[in-house]
Amino acid sequence: IKKIAVFTSGGDSPGMNAAIRSVVRTCAFMKIECVGIYRGYEGMIEGDFLPMNARSVNNIINKGGTILKSARCEEFKTREGRQKAYDQLKSEGVDAMVVIGGDGSFTGALLFNEEFGMPVIGIPGTIDNDIFGTRYTLGFDTAINTAMEVIDKIRDTASSHHRLFFVEVMGRDVGHIALNAGVGAGAEEILIPEENLGLERLLESLKRSKLTGKSSSIVVVAEGDKTTGKNVFQLKEYVEEHLPIYDVRVCVLGHMQRGGAPTCFDRVLASRMGVKAVEALLEGKSNLMVGILDDDIAFTPLSEAIKGKTKIDKELIRVSDIMST
Ligand code: ADP
Repeated sequence: IKKIAVFTSGGDSPGMNAAIRSVVRTCAFMKIECVGIYRGYEGMIEGDFLPMNARSVNNIINKGGTILKSARCEEFKTREGRQKAYDQLKSEGVDAMVVIGGDGSFTGALLFNEEFGMPVIGIPGTIDNDIFGTRYTLGFDTAINTAMEVIDKIRDTASSHHRLFFVEVMGRDVGHIALNAGVGAGAEEILIPEENLGLERLLESLKRSKLTGKSSSIVVVAEGDKTTGKNVFQLKEYVEEHLPIYDVRVCVLGHMQRGGAPTCFDRVLASRMGVKAVEALLEGKSNLMVGILDDDIAFTPLSEAIKGKTKIDKELIRVSDIMST
């Protein structure tokens, strides 16, 4: 292997730049060439390449987003699109690639490998932490810290006005962000898809805390939660109707959770994963995702990574229940 391509694809997440930096610097260290691809598979199809050396990635470890940009690309889902992408990579002299992205990006990479034999290693970049084979995805730690800090601020105003806030956080169809940011910010209740709290218990809990003298309440709701059958706005209406003692507000955190400087944890994780990704390719490995399990780097076949999900931390759910006494 003489030249490795690196790109970011699908939803962006904090720490992607640190991972690009790590891949580029490891290539430089190993004295092999590295080329960045702009806008994921879209740039691959168009041949939008950027030769990179150790100095190309100065001052990016602390930046959110991705300097290589990201995109969703329908054309790559077609055989013709992938053929174009392969032709571009070949004419650039690329022998192997590192894809930083989520399960969609991995699915595309796997198909591409099956068709054209291009060796590939994946680095899981998503704030949702929903990829099997790694305890943490890149950007998750930053996202939970961002969400927690914002919930802290909401708590200030909530307690000044004796209000109840429903705060919706991201996470697609899993509750990792909600559970972790919720426990970290001391939420009253946390609604996640993996655990059915139900409307009755929510009402009971809110009633009880009002009676025991809590001046404010924060309920963190995962965007993918369907367990109450209501979204945050419908929850507000429901609680106002059934528990008129509360002045209820809603706050949807949205895309701020995807941005910002990565935490130290995410930067370290990205640095470790980038090194291992390049080393794996040089050892002749392919179709694997670099993950972290029990604090150690571990490889999982991409085919398994895209199928499974990381299990929700049941013990943390229990802790959260005890905390809301
Ligand atoms: P993420 O990687 O964050 O899950 P997406 O699901 O949007 O994001 O996937 C990113 C890109 O990966 C898509 O825009 C597409 O180009 C490619 N991709 C996703 N699924 C497939 C597929 N089944 N076949 C080929 N390419 C795919």
